[in-house]
Amino acid sequence: MINFSKYTDGLVPAIVQDNETKNVLMLGFMNQEALEKTFATNKVTFFSRSKNRLWTKGEESGNFLNLVSYSVDCDNDTLLLKVNPVGTTCHTGSDTCWNENNKQDYGFLTKLENTIKERKESATAEKSYVASLFEKGINKIAQKVGEEAVEVVIEAKDNNDDLFLNESADLLFHYLILLQAKGFQLNDVVKVLKNREK
Ligand code: AMP
Ligand code: ZN
Ligand code: ZN
Ligand code: ZN
Repeated sequence: MINFSKYTDGLVPAIVQDNETKNVLMLGFMNQEALEKTFATNKVTFFSRSKNRLWTKGEESGNFLNLVSYSVDCDNDTLLLKVNPVGTTCHTGSDTCWNENNKQDYGFLTKLENTIKERKESATAEKSYVASLFEKGINKIAQKVGEEAVEVVIEAKDNNDDLFLNESADLLFHYLILLQAKGFQLNDVVKVLKNREK
């Protein structure tokens, strides 16, 4: 249970995180009433210190924060609210209050995708294997994906985990190159998968 009496003003900080992208969207403050209203309406409601009243985020703009789940931190004095945001969250019009795009990030895979994109746009074939693939064109890249897929199948039938994982890495790597060559990224495929969930 959250402890509202920890601070003299009865307000606790509430970190708002996009449940899907995991980006931090904004920070607000809540008292007991604000939290209760949030539960009752499923729309995140803060206590605004500047307005000096309950403030449902989106009450004017329509850009509500729909609550998915909440949790309390290690010492019961800070809330984490996971939400599905409607539209942009910051009143400046940017996605988050830190002027960031609320884009899905796949961590290392996104970093790798960006490197592949750079190679597609600028690197020379003598210096870069990825650039040399782009130079050879889509048929060659697609063929490489096919070859690596076959290698994964072969290793799946063996009992050598090391080889299986290495061929899996080869496949994923070349698949990311193929996506880029077609003008797509991992997130385009994830969107298709998400649509199938319904
Ligand atoms: P809204 O709650 O989106 O209808 O916005 C109403 C007012 O709340 C805006 O005019 C701003 O003054 C303020 N506001 C909205 N979003 C934020 C935010 N993310 N951080 C701080 N203030 C905000
Ligand atoms: Zn704490
Ligand atoms: Zn803001
Ligand atoms: Zn291989």
